[in-house]
Amino acid sequence: MIKLIPVQNWVPSLSGPLIIAGPCGAESYQQIMITAQLIKATGKAHILRAGIWKPRTRPGSFEGKGEQALSWLAEAGRKTGLLTAVEVGNSYHVEKALKAGIDVLWLGARTTVNPFYVQEIAKALIGTDVPVMVKNPVSPDLQLWIGALERLNKAGIGKLLAVHRGFTSLTSSSLRNAPHWEIVIELKRQLPDVAVICDVSHISGKQEFIPAIAQHALDLDLQGLMIETHYHPEEALSDSQQQITPRQFNELIEKLNVRKSKSDDIVFKTTIEELRNHIDSIDHELLQLLAGRFRLVQRIGEFKNSSNVTLLQLKRWTEMLEDRVKQGKTEELDEVFVTRLFEFIHNESLRLQNQILNSDHDAEQPLLSKYEQQNNSKS
Ligand code: PEP
Ligand code: MN
Repeated sequence: MIKLIPVQNWVPSLSGPLIIAGPCGAESYQQIMITAQLIKATGKAHILRAGIWKPRTRPGSFEGKGEQALSWLAEAGRKTGLLTAVEVGNSYHVEKALKAGIDVLWLGARTTVNPFYVQEIAKALIGTDVPVMVKNPVSPDLQLWIGALERLNKAGIGKLLAVHRGFTSLTSSSLRNAPHWEIVIELKRQLPDVAVICDVSHISGKQEFIPAIAQHALDLDLQGLMIETHYHPEEALSDSQQQITPRQFNELIEKLNVRKSKSDDIVFKTTIEELRNHIDSIDHELLQLLAGRFRLVQRIGEFKNSSNVTLLQLKRWTEMLEDRVKQGKTEELDEVFVTRLFEFIHNESLRLQNQILNSDHDAEQPLLSKYEQQNNSKS
């Protein structure tokens, strides 16, 4: 990575989280101007966002006002003093947005997913020092997200931000996109210098979930929020259910609790250190216990092998899971957690025993987890 330029260096007077507000799409001169002025009046936003070219999943929905709207957005920026941001999906968009004087560009989730487009955009940005925000790809693929950040960085972009907007999921949920916060935490672990902000609106999908998602993002120490804001959300041409009014935006930001990243208070530090030491020793014990458990599992594997008995013993697994969930309840452990934990442990037991039962051919393949298969097929 070339040297990253912290957000504080390119957003004037930034002291807390970076706040981005504005409509999903620019719909008319009036909509942009009024929304921008109302957002500015809250005093809580740094950047005004609006989609000009909207990548819609199905044809026929509102696809943005195109180039003409760039000048509306640029004018709204000049009048309010807010920085402006627009989504770009190819080199033509980059050229037009920069020419119109847009301050910040972002890559949408449907662009990050495609390295050809990311590379084309990166190439078009060589020689500029425009800030670029990279949304996560629609699929829960951390490597694609990191890859896009790297491509832009290699093109000389140092003002880079990652935007977490959730992932498409097959399992149904009330949220529009599955947050998979663990992927964001892993991004922060692998690229600690890249600031990550949360696009709360595209995770929530509905106004009612916005406060809790926004608070959670801040509690995970993300460095900012993007909130779709429209002067008449109910009339919005896209994403109407998740947009809020400038007044609601003002209340939302006011109510959020911005906690500090760390505390130097001596009592806090010593107490937490003591508790963490205790956790460390419990974890070490847990690993020793698990190792002992898997040694027994392997002995059972030898018996299954010599008696030519199937790997899976459904009755035993069903009874075992019921028993562990029941004990978990008496210990006040969450049922879903206990079930997942023992599914994970049982899977590892099956993997170990399969190596014993099928040592003469590639015993790993049939048992590869979805995650391992994904990683193995990475190119
Ligand atoms: C948007 O920001 O309006 C948008 C299209 O988002 P995403 O790329 O996250 O779907
Ligand atoms: Mn949107």
